[in-house]
Amino acid sequence: MHCPFCRHGDSRVVDSRTADDGASIRRRRQCPACQRRFTTIETASLAVVKRSGVTEPFSREKIVNGVRKACQGRPVSEDDLALLAQRVEEALRATGSAELDAHEIGLAILGPLRDLDEVAYLRFASVYQAFESLEDFERAIGGLREDHASASTAGDG
Ligand SMILES: [Zn+2]
Repeated sequence: MHCPFCRHGDSRVVDSRTADDGASIRRRRQCPACQRRFTTIETASLAVVKRSGVTEPFSREKIVNGVRKACQGRPVSEDDLALLAQRVEEALRATGSAELDAHEIGLAILGPLRDLDEVAYLRFASVYQAFESLEDFERAIGGLREDHASASTAGDG
């Protein structure tokens, strides 16, 4: 890492801390030549392999755009969407893979979206999992009902 002030070819790390909820590491560095300090941010790259075989960098913006349509008319704010995209990114990074299928991204969206808004979840799942019949919806809704039932018995009192 070159010093941005004097272009010295080496620097010393004086402090490291994770930033952005673990998605990146912020390092405080000091140049041994001019003694000035500067900060670098390191982010592990996360790539998405699309169905066409094209690889592109992971983007939270794309997650938000992909989910926004399913959330139309629902009580979901831009902050909720940003938080959802963050949760998806954290889940994907936790897998330890540097490259992910578009399919895995869709799967990673389903859980947090379900927690956020069940109607939006059903809309998204119906497109993403290509629901073809009423039975597909019934199965998904049945899954939600079961969760409600176990939540209400557990939370009684
Ligand atoms: Zn320097």
